[in-house]
Amino acid sequence: MPESAQRLADLTARVAELEAERELTLRLAQTDSLTGLVNRGAFTAALCERLEAAGARGGRVGLFVIDLDRFKHLNDTLGHHAGDLFLAEVGDRLSGAAAPGELVARLGGDEFALISDDPDVAARAQRLVDLLTQPHTIYGSQVSPGASVGLAVFPDDAPNAGDLQRFADMALYRVKTQGGRRWSAFDAELRAENQHRRTLEAELRRAIPAGEIEPWFQPVVDSADSRIVGVEVLVRWRHPEHGLLSPAAFVPIAEELDLIGRIDEAVFEAGCARAAPWVAEGLIEGVAFNVSPRDLLDPSFSRKLIGRLGRTALPATALIVEITETFLLRDLALSRRHIERLSAKGIRIALDDFGTGYSNLRALMHLPIQTVKLDRSLICDVAKDARVGKLVGSMLYAARSLGVRIVAEGVEDEAQAILLRAAGCERMQGYWFDRPMPADEMEARLRQSMEAAPRTFVAEPTRRRAHG
Ligand code: C2E
Ligand code: CA
Ligand code: CA
Repeated sequence: MPESAQRLADLTARVAELEAERELTLRLAQTDSLTGLVNRGAFTAALCERLEAAGARGGRVGLFVIDLDRFKHLNDTLGHHAGDLFLAEVGDRLSGAAAPGELVARLGGDEFALISDDPDVAARAQRLVDLLTQPHTIYGSQVSPGASVGLAVFPDDAPNAGDLQRFADMALYRVKTQGGRRWSAFDAELRAENQHRRTLEAELRRAIPAGEIEPWFQPVVDSADSRIVGVEVLVRWRHPEHGLLSPAAFVPIAEELDLIGRIDEAVFEAGCARAAPWVAEGLIEGVAFNVSPRDLLDPSFSRKLIGRLGRTALPATALIVEITETFLLRDLALSRRHIERLSAKGIRIALDDFGTGYSNLRALMHLPIQTVKLDRSLICDVAKDARVGKLVGSMLYAARSLGVRIVAEGVEDEAQAILLRAAGCERMQGYWFDRPMPADEMEARLRQSMEAAPRTFVAEPTRRRAHG
């Protein structure tokens, strides 16, 4: 072969090699390595293409999102390797059962999806549930975590890929909250919910700069003499049409929409502006703010908070940051970093809603946490149920021996107050003392309580001993 022909052949071979490599890289970028299925990115692109094609020919496309029901439990009990084997098998089952033209993907974790133009979407969804409910054998033992499926149909439910995915997710979420192992389709109820959220979202975005987000204050009292020693700041939304809204009406949605950070910031600024003078005058010792678990996932949360605090007149030693225990468990390393950074500035940390989750006393030993807030659900039974009384008594004992202060939340009647005081609880908060109130009212209340003699309990020693 002449030299030039040889060179041409070499070059051609090299080009073919490069093309094969490029194809492989492309395929790898689009595939989930564990299951060999299409990954989320490629799936979204394929969904867009298929909707466009279906739109052009006037066809329908069903989007099924699939979530395994008890996968986390399986992973925790049998280990990650078993979890991976299981996910791979789910992938095999799904692709094995897919009809020609259907596309199966792994969206991440234990979430899968199917695009199908099967006209009978209900039957197709049920087949998916059945397929994944059949038991699997992992390490010789049978497991059957089951699966939930959410469904939305193009163009009936949504005209584009983004909405279609969101609607299928909403349907899935509803099934999950109802116990799973079923399928559910996007319907009129979910459409109304979606509409409500959209309106709320637009209104919330407007409400923050418009100053409709207000800090309210609830006193925390010293158990010994009912003297107000601090306040917890609680957010309220003064809605122009619906009036005053409680956090339950908008905090969950604000968290979902990633607006909670801005709300917490607004509450913090306005709350500090009102409460800092109370601290300066010696009317109270501390001001507690709630932060969303969402905020705490931000690695710069503590640094930002310290910066923000510096722009207020509140001393760091008067600030208490309330965080929930469930957050601690989600990312212990990150929580530790935040807590240590805040503590180093003299800011105190309170563990909120204690007694609803794991009630992890170990976290208290290893982290600089000074206060635990015993949840209302425990307090409301403390005087009614002797076992709860004993439990709270031993929690108080444990906290004391760790040098942690307990605040009992949601104290609603005298019997609870007496019992808690007798058990050694130093601080209380609840309707029995005061409901949350706006700043002006709080200020008047603080001045009045400075002048008035402290309120006392009807705390007959006999009764206290009886519960003792
Ligand atoms: P939380 O931190 O556990 O706050 C205590 C809740 O219990 C408050 O409800 C308070 O009004 C209520 N409460 C106090 N005493 C009693 C009582 O004796 N009986 C009963 N039944 N309830 C009592 P609220 O203000 O509706 O707040 C609910 C939750 O919303 C808070 O629970 C907190 O998790 C969240 N939240 C409140 N303000 C903020 C905020 O500024 N930012 C964030 N991220 N979350 C907030
Ligand atoms: Ca709280
Ligand atoms: Ca609480």
